[in-house]
Amino acid sequence: MIWEGVLKEKLEALGIAVRVATFTGDSSYPVEYTLSYGDVQAGGEPTLDLAMVAFIGKLLPKEPTLVDCPHCGGAHYSGQVCPLNPMLAELDRLELLSDEAAEAMESTQSEKEALAQWQKLKAAQLAQQDLHKQLESMGYRVLIDAEHPPFRHSASRNR
Ligand SMILES: [Zn+2]
Repeated sequence: MIWEGVLKEKLEALGIAVRVATFTGDSSYPVEYTLSYGDVQAGGEPTLDLAMVAFIGKLLPKEPTLVDCPHCGGAHYSGQVCPLNPMLAELDRLELLSDEAAEAMESTQSEKEALAQWQKLKAAQLAQQDLHKQLESMGYRVLIDAEHPPFRHSASRNR
């Protein structure tokens, strides 16, 4: 292709790396063109034009897709964070905190330390209750499952 050298130069002037690989095996094309720019890479195509088309395809914005949400039982577009996510993460954190406080309360010999841990436990439990109430007022029921990734807590819509 007569314009190939010009195209290659123009692409490289834009910062796009053009790799031309020559193969002799019969499983691939004799020549393969690959374009890359940062994390975007496309190619393995038999002509520079086809490699450019593949590259453009990689640059086009992706259709947003709905993904089922493990937290709220609804669905969100990919890349979107579930609005319940921070609350469920906080519930998990508070549960861990109460577990630690309960353990420390049992293992300590000091009455003063036990009382301090008991207060910590109570505070964490109250904060959890508040979050439960908040979620309930939004129409959710809170579920706890130790095996539920990535959070132990999840919520489902009340029907
Ligand atoms: Zn969600």
